[in-house]
Amino acid sequence: MRPSETGLSKKLFIKTYGCQMNVYDSARMADVLAPLGYEAVDAPDGADMVILNTCHIREKAAEKVYSELGRLRSLKDDREGMVIAVAGCVAQAEGEEIMRRAPCVDIVLGPQTYHRLPEMVARAARAGGGVLDTDFPVEPKFDFLPESSAPSGVGAFLTIQEGCDKFCTFCVVPYTRGAEFSRSVAEIEAEARRLVANGAREITLLGQNVNAFHGAGPDGRDWGLGRLVRRLAEIDGLYGIRYTTSHPLSMDEELIAAHGDVPALMPFLHLPVQSGSDRILAAMNRKHTADDYRRIVDRLRVVRPDIAMASDFIVGYPGETDADFEDTLRLVRDVGYAQAYSFKYSPRPGTPAAGRRYGHVDEAGKTERLAVLQDLLDAQMSAFNQASVGRVLPVLFERTGRHPGQIVGRSPYMQAVHVDAPRDLIGTSAAVMVTGVTSHGLTGVLAAFSGRPMHSEEVVAG
Ligand code: SF4
Repeated sequence: MRPSETGLSKKLFIKTYGCQMNVYDSARMADVLAPLGYEAVDAPDGADMVILNTCHIREKAAEKVYSELGRLRSLKDDREGMVIAVAGCVAQAEGEEIMRRAPCVDIVLGPQTYHRLPEMVARAARAGGGVLDTDFPVEPKFDFLPESSAPSGVGAFLTIQEGCDKFCTFCVVPYTRGAEFSRSVAEIEAEARRLVANGAREITLLGQNVNAFHGAGPDGRDWGLGRLVRRLAEIDGLYGIRYTTSHPLSMDEELIAAHGDVPALMPFLHLPVQSGSDRILAAMNRKHTADDYRRIVDRLRVVRPDIAMASDFIVGYPGETDADFEDTLRLVRDVGYAQAYSFKYSPRPGTPAAGRRYGHVDEAGKTERLAVLQDLLDAQMSAFNQASVGRVLPVLFERTGRHPGQIVGRSPYMQAVHVDAPRDLIGTSAAVMVTGVTSHGLTGVLAAFSGRPMHSEEVVAG
């Protein structure tokens, strides 16, 4: 019997900031609280528990959390017994400070302790709040999280790895998420099979440093991501596999080879480079050069010529000169990107780069460089999308569109594709002739429908 049917239902609202890993973690927190009678709702009004699952990557992340807590405090004043929890990377980085500055918060928990949430809720009820748990416990949280029973979307996420040992100088992740940890292959495969049984057709494997995955395999050895991908590709009904976010240093030969001979591994790779200048890459502690990165892309394109590349860029890192920035533009021209995220450098508290007192690029200079870079990246993305017009691509349909009769799916290259077609195609892959490009992606018409996965090497040029 469901909690709502017993009258014991409590309302849980989780607000998620940041990346897909936080979205995944929020779903797992909902899973762990379900046996206590908590059911997810879409708004904080009237909720019995509100969790802010925070992200520390963007500027002023902590301030945004405090202003949200100010709004929640008035809701709590009107609802006796409401529990407020702060989770995620801001919680990990600022646990004590949150407790001090926002007394309305009952629970502060770091990303490694979600499995202890029911116990924390009980402790908070007994003690009237004040529970702080930002340990990096020895027992991996995945051993204690329940299996998700919620239906999957067509595209599902699965965390296979957490944490990072790379220590890029601008990034807080190694401090908030801790050292690299990989789940076992058996555990991941079991979760992937459950997701597919619940309706997922494409799975994105998640990790802060996902291609550094080295989980225990069934043969007792550590398996890398390439081998894991091959194993998951054997699951019936799973059409597509993606992974994010990767570091160039961890692109090993086994993973590159998998791009060549595992059709389910989608031909799209988000491989952040951050800068095209060797001097700046060294200052960022990235431990590779721009040419190392070019060689990785070349090797990928040898095994998978149609692979589309995406990346992240930071402009105006301390010490970046005009010549360094030119190197970044040169790398972008050499690689040619289908998608990219670019930002002005801004210091993150607690990171080595934030302590640098010299070489700062002024705001106007950063703004100018960002505009130049984004113009180039936008032009590349438009050219990539335009080149799809007239092609027939396999599209995995995920949801209905905004217009009546329209459904939306994703091409192998992560382009959103809008098609007028029956909604019972959602959850299946169909061949679509691309007819146009809009600001939201591509438009197309059904070219054929076979009801089976269609891989991109079956694509017929239009
Ligand atoms: S590899 Fe990624 S997660 Fe790790 S420190 Fe660098 S930017 Fe942060």
